[in-house]
Amino acid sequence: MYLSEMNYLQVENYLKEKDTIIIPVGSLENHGKHMPLGTDTLIPDKIASYINSRSDVLIAPAINYGATDDLVGFPGTISIGTEGLIQLLKSICDQFYHYGFRHFMILNGHGGNSAAINTVGMHLYRKGAYLAVLNWWLMAGQINPAWAGGHGGGEETAGVMAVNPDLIKTEYLELGEGIQNDVSEELPSGAWTNVVYKNVNVVIPREIRSITDNGWLSHSFKNDPPTKATAEWGKEMLETVADYIVDFEKVFSKTKLPEKP
Ligand SMILES: [Zn+2]
Repeated sequence: MYLSEMNYLQVENYLKEKDTIIIPVGSLENHGKHMPLGTDTLIPDKIASYINSRSDVLIAPAINYGATDDLVGFPGTISIGTEGLIQLLKSICDQFYHYGFRHFMILNGHGGNSAAINTVGMHLYRKGAYLAVLNWWLMAGQINPAWAGGHGGGEETAGVMAVNPDLIKTEYLELGEGIQNDVSEELPSGAWTNVVYKNVNVVIPREIRSITDNGWLSHSFKNDPPTKATAEWGKEMLETVADYIVDFEKVFSKTKLPEKP
């Protein structure tokens, strides 16, 4: 059930039965020339719609902005940073807590949000509640290793195709990641903000714009090319993740809450 479509009496009645809320959290960020900026919210919202048709768990409106500082510089990418997301998510969760919600499920679409979500999860834990982090793209890859992928690769491209195939700009699909060794040739760029030295990854935080000319950094063109994505794959994948979350919710909602320290 979508919270935005209910009145307060329905929420009051819901809380007599259950104290679980799903909150999708996304991001507005560059995913390469072939994908839309809203990818990380569009996909969780689609999964939420499948959950909504299979379960009566309460689903809050998505947070459309996230922490994506390293992708700033590509027009349209807007980051509220980790601190901004902590404040926003904490404020929202604290108000749900005030009404009696104690089981929080964050349906996350973007890896850069993890630090903020984990911080809010610990905050709620200390208040005697649980927050479960559902990183859809990692879950999909664990459910079926053939689906595993990264930022702007086949997995996410298929996910967006399940939302609307017209959102994928097919003329750019063949494009590589355009990786540059921006720090130095002796410290070649690895996955995301890693550089590789003697086969070991070292993180040097920096804006991705200096590493790639198109902002697509899946580093898995061979394993996860967007060219192999199909709407059928995307639909099956997002429905399977939704089925998993529906089952998980039933077990999670029954858990005994943590003692307040
Ligand atoms: Zn993404």
